[in-house]
Amino acid sequence: MIGCGAVLFGIGAVAGCAGGDSTTPTTPTSVEPTTLTGTGTTNNSGMTVNGISLSELPATQTMTMLPFDTSGVTLISPYKPSHTGIDINTITGGRFLSPASGVVTLVQLNTGQGRPGTNYRVRIHHTSTGINSLYHFEVDGAISDQMQQANILVDLGDQVTAGQHIGNLMSQGPHAHVHYDMLDAGGRATVRCPIVYFASDVAETWENLYDQKIKERDDARIAENRGAVPSLPNLCNDVELPSLRFVTAPMILRLRNHKLF
Ligand SMILES: [Zn+2]
Repeated sequence: MIGCGAVLFGIGAVAGCAGGDSTTPTTPTSVEPTTLTGTGTTNNSGMTVNGISLSELPATQTMTMLPFDTSGVTLISPYKPSHTGIDINTITGGRFLSPASGVVTLVQLNTGQGRPGTNYRVRIHHTSTGINSLYHFEVDGAISDQMQQANILVDLGDQVTAGQHIGNLMSQGPHAHVHYDMLDAGGRATVRCPIVYFASDVAETWENLYDQKIKERDDARIAENRGAVPSLPNLCNDVELPSLRFVTAPMILRLRNHKLF
């Protein structure tokens, strides 16, 4: 299985999300070619992305806001080795925000990646050395170019502030979500769990919301006699749960004892 949210600068390719996603062989429209110049190892060295200079951005920055409005969130799926970002499921109208100041370096419609359907993407660079937030809006259905554009509230090259509303997720199905990555100029090879870039209080809020949403999901499943689903222990995980097909009751007990979920 391919990883989720794999990004290769230079060709701007991003793999789809795990969890049943598959790549849709549609041709992207309005694709902004990603061009990255500069070494990315020195501050304010003149790095540009898609022709936009990052030299006015700070060399380092901590993310001080959640990248989404918590009110619309229905479920959160964590980072793990095969899933390089965090998924935020929302109801229609889920609001997504910039977690820090930055500049919009990519706006893309019809990405052809992620869940089947119509997906769009926004990227915001936060530092002159290339740290960026990448939002892949996976609609779980088909919408027009006009609808995609109407839900993207920033333009290429815009300067944004922490907490600025940058886009909405049009949820057309039960699996609609935003796959959120935080990447550096090296892209996938150096990808880390997004949480490591956030202030500790924001990370804690996010972690608590993850726990709450997983509990709500499991309570609903139990009420419907479908049973709880083993969950990863937190938003950033170095381990994978074994395939559920091979998990036995004693194994589940052992995993629980090791606080793996
Ligand atoms: Zn994802």
